[in-house]
Amino acid sequence: MQIKYPDSDNALRSLWNVISFIEGRFNSCIGQKHNAITIFYASSLIITRRVSYNNIQLFDKIKDLINLSPRNFICLIRTTAPSYFHGHMKFLHKQAIDFLRDKCYVVLYDRKREFLNHAKFLIFYHVCFSESIVYHGKYYGSTNLTQVGLSYNSLHVGNYEEFDITNPKPKLNITGPDLFYLREVQEQMNHKKKLYTDPNYLKSFLLDHLNAMNSVLQHSNRVISGTSLGELYETYINLLIIYNQTYALLEEMPGKELIEKLIEKLMEIKPVTNPFELEVMIPKNLNNAELLAGDLMFKDAELGEIINKHVEIVRKTYGLIKEEYLSKLENISEYFDEKERIFLDFVRSNSEYHEENLEKVISWPKVSER
Ligand SMILES: [Zn+2]
Repeated sequence: MQIKYPDSDNALRSLWNVISFIEGRFNSCIGQKHNAITIFYASSLIITRRVSYNNIQLFDKIKDLINLSPRNFICLIRTTAPSYFHGHMKFLHKQAIDFLRDKCYVVLYDRKREFLNHAKFLIFYHVCFSESIVYHGKYYGSTNLTQVGLSYNSLHVGNYEEFDITNPKPKLNITGPDLFYLREVQEQMNHKKKLYTDPNYLKSFLLDHLNAMNSVLQHSNRVISGTSLGELYETYINLLIIYNQTYALLEEMPGKELIEKLIEKLMEIKPVTNPFELEVMIPKNLNNAELLAGDLMFKDAELGEIINKHVEIVRKTYGLIKEEYLSKLENISEYFDEKERIFLDFVRSNSEYHEENLEKVISWPKVSER
């Protein structure tokens, strides 16, 4: 592990070295018309557009690589839904997502009902079938993709962070841990593609969430009539969680022109709860809920009232999504924004090639089999 001191740019330098390495290999293989694929998988809580090193912006560098040959470059980004944040943070985070989402698979919500995407890493595989070689490297640590997270400003103000790096190098075998990451890429890429190309998948993805909302509502109605403080608290938290996740779900869905209006309406109903506040409030179980409710000095009657209010909020949102989104799902492409239209073309032209080659990497022959 390495420490990034406030006045050090070692984290950004290390990250930059990984990307420069990818650039070198990718340019060389594409230049020689090799049969090659680069798998670039990055996750961060916050991403921002203007992080730069030696006056080159990080995201420009990534975008240039993709544009050089989109079919040979798989870019998967996992991050937080912008509406989880406020003000300028929300704006800048969304700006970075918008910059990438026409040619990257950007994932903001996981159907396994992930609470927060807090993992920060960059992992890559560059596989050249023509040369029969795999290159791999990774960067991971506490750093978000922000200037002071990775480096410092002109006054040498920066974050205290920790990170580690596996320097890019050739790899003989694709082993178990590699398969784990590659299958994650496969799963997430497939998911994002199907949201835009498979109406049945899109519908069932939405219905899964609507059903989850419905179960929280039903459970809340059962709990409200006289139970323990712990149960009331747990119910209140479950309502807050499903409401926050609804924002993330919407931002994950296609049809941005429709989604933006829906999110505005949700903001009027109730803004998201600060995810960090909610994170510390989530109890492990009922006993734990009882303790937390006591710590926060909640009273039964007060929680009952709060629950009623939040049941109304979730119910209203449920109805809104059904009426204004689910009903329009069959013609969702009419509500695509420019970026989505480009992404759909990108998926149509490249995703089959991406899938085939990712599958080839996953079944890369072991040394002993070659
Ligand atoms: Zn090559």
